[in-house]
Amino acid sequence: MPIIVKKFGGSSVGNIQLIKGIAHKIASLAQEGESIVLVVSAMAKTTDELFRLAFEISDHPSRRELDMLLTAGERISMSLLSLALHNEGLSSISFTGSQSGIMTDAMHGNARILDVNAFRIREELAKGKIVIVAGFQGVSPEKEITTLGRGGSDTSAVALASYLHAESCEIFTDVAGVYTADPRLVKTARKLDCIDYETMLALAYSGSKVLHPRAVEFACKYNIPVEIKSSFTFETGTLLDTRRNLINKGFLMEERIISAIAHKDGLARYQLKADDALQTALSTWNNEIFKYYLQDETLELVIENKFASEIDHLIRTQNLQLIKRLEGSAFITLVGLGINLDPGFLAEAMLICKPYQIQRISHSDKTLELMLPSTQLEACLNALHQAFIGVSQ
Ligand code: ADP
Ligand code: ASP
Ligand code: MG
Repeated sequence: MPIIVKKFGGSSVGNIQLIKGIAHKIASLAQEGESIVLVVSAMAKTTDELFRLAFEISDHPSRRELDMLLTAGERISMSLLSLALHNEGLSSISFTGSQSGIMTDAMHGNARILDVNAFRIREELAKGKIVIVAGFQGVSPEKEITTLGRGGSDTSAVALASYLHAESCEIFTDVAGVYTADPRLVKTARKLDCIDYETMLALAYSGSKVLHPRAVEFACKYNIPVEIKSSFTFETGTLLDTRRNLINKGFLMEERIISAIAHKDGLARYQLKADDALQTALSTWNNEIFKYYLQDETLELVIENKFASEIDHLIRTQNLQLIKRLEGSAFITLVGLGINLDPGFLAEAMLICKPYQIQRISHSDKTLELMLPSTQLEACLNALHQAFIGVSQ
């Protein structure tokens, strides 16, 4: 029987009304001869709130205990959705990541999925039940509960789709798909009908939180097509696939230099002496580092502000030499396949950015990254989008 995986993000299950609405929609769509696996995130803001509570007790909470705490969020939404499905007359059962057989490494807070032993899911599907899986979590070889990094429920969904050989994987969220820029900051951003893995990977790693970077890695590695769509309308969203498959499916790939623009705000820069103590600290570091730059004897780490108290703790306890700490940084990343083939492009970007205080420019084969003060992020992002992508059609 074909298996369908559908994932619902935090704002899509943000209150009881929304959960009931999703259950109702699932009931109306459920078809004979189709097995459904639903993956859920914690209800909106729950994970942030749990995080905040832990940091009220300690500025460097134990990563193990933090994972025990944070995974509680998804247990709430999975069981509520299951109850709502029962109300719709459907038979369903909810499982934690561990019960679902999501095996990870032992890196608390940022674990990687190593394997999925989904036999319990298969057993319940065979009984005709809808299975609801708590996203964002797994279990380590030592049987400790782990989390996959913020936004990691997307990765749970794509991994399950891969291991279950699902026929489709849909990520339902609070926007209609992947846009040319975050539609909350750029009102003229356009929804893309399709996006290839490489472009999406670059966007996700540059801060476009619409998809977790590891979910894109997984989809790309195992060739899983994924649709990103609205949980409010259920309308056709954005299809993520290989470039070749998208062309074969009749999508017209847009051939602009810039496909989309990502941004990341709320960053702090730590300039640290690149000595042996830092090397030792880095070997066991489990805070996500957004970017790093090594120049001469200085390593600059760009890290989300919310990890500040933990980084300060590391600096104190591991004898790291802090040269300078700078707050209020943001990044804008232009993503496009032709960036490096067009030298005039850098000149144009610099001209558009002239009114803004660009602190660093760097590039890869398909990205151009600009670092600037947070206060100028929105204006600069809109100016770049207007120049390179234009207005909605
Ligand atoms: P969920 O809770 O469903 O996982 P997220 O908040 O993690 O949702 O991701 C969806 C959000 O991603 C949107 O509300 C939007 O603000 C943001 N976003 C950032 N960049 C983009 C983009 N290029 N296209 C669409 N959404 C984007
Ligand atoms: N609830 C987790 C978070 O807020 C995981 C997710 O939403 O994907 O990061
Ligand atoms: Mg998300």
